[in-house]
Amino acid sequence: MNEVAWFRPHQLEEALALLEQYGEEARPVAGGSALALLLKQRLVQPRALISLAGLAELRGIRQEPDGLHLGALTTHAEVERLAGTAGVPPLLVETYRRVATRRVRNQATVGGGLAHADPAQDPPAALLALEARVRLVGPRGERIVPLDQFFVDYYETVLQPGELIREVIVPPPPSGSAGAYVKFLSRSVDDYATVAVAVQLGLEGRVLTGVRVAFIAAGPTPRRAREVETLLEGEVPRVGLLQEAGQLASQVVEPLDDSRGSAAYKREMAGVMLERAVRLAVERARSGQ
Ligand SMILES: Cc1cc2nc3c(=O)[nH]c(=O)nc-3n(C[C@H](O)[C@H](O)[C@H](O)COP(=O)(O)OP(=O)(O)OC[C@H]3O[C@@H](n4cnc5c(N)ncnc54)[C@H](O)[C@@H]3O)c2cc1C
Repeated sequence: MNEVAWFRPHQLEEALALLEQYGEEARPVAGGSALALLLKQRLVQPRALISLAGLAELRGIRQEPDGLHLGALTTHAEVERLAGTAGVPPLLVETYRRVATRRVRNQATVGGGLAHADPAQDPPAALLALEARVRLVGPRGERIVPLDQFFVDYYETVLQPGELIREVIVPPPPSGSAGAYVKFLSRSVDDYATVAVAVQLGLEGRVLTGVRVAFIAAGPTPRRAREVETLLEGEVPRVGLLQEAGQLASQVVEPLDDSRGSAAYKREMAGVMLERAVRLAVERARSGQ
């Protein structure tokens, strides 16, 4: 490995100054779970590694009127431990809990996961279905980006050199709505998804409202499936409708062939998983879970 300078700033301004000083040759480090592999494989060769661990500004979980604020350094395990807390959407906890193993969840952070932007990561599915936003901070100040505008391509986001994810804001879902995350695994239980989908929806009488659907491992970026949402919105969830939604989901996803399955297989599974997720979310909405 090349010689790398290691910094552990304790002020956000200090971290931003270092990022600016080293430009594209700097890498922030959060949990390090993805970065360690990238360094080992020489896929990245930075001159400076800047640990975010000392930055209080990137820590903490707060409930605010606009939703749940998760500091970028919140670990996946910390999200998991919010289970049953008022104001925390169960879909969020259900999804973070499905990430790999406890060991990975103890290390990986909310911000690091989003910045890494592997399209097979689980959390963006729930975060997109819950219409989360990310607060970024950089040399020119702060900006808030809706998560559905954050991912650009495989491992690529709108983050500019020198910019950090400060926190993720998860707005409260409509009262009475419910969610479901269905992850299909073709290899081991701790693997990345072959394909997975998160659904959040409500019921007004027998009719579906506020339907939000997001897929991961089904294209170059995690993605809302607005076509499927539109098909389901305002309809009574009958068997025929769910089948139709599943068929539409199979058409709109854009998976690739890889070791977890062929693109054609994943398309089919996307439809099946979508039907299951909608059915589960409807059951939960009916029973007030
Ligand atoms: C064996 C293994 C299996 C895994 N399986 C899954 C899985 O099934 N599902 C899943 O969802 N995830 C899984 N993960 C976790 C996932 O792939 C990433 O490793 C993890 O989410 C990265 O988080 P981190 O905090 O460790 O980020 P780091 O490794 O520290 O950083 C990742 C990238 O983000 C940048 N970065 C970090 N924090 C910030 C910030 N605040 N602002 C801007 N840039 C930042 C870094 O510079 C780096 O480029 C797995 C990981 C491992 C090691």
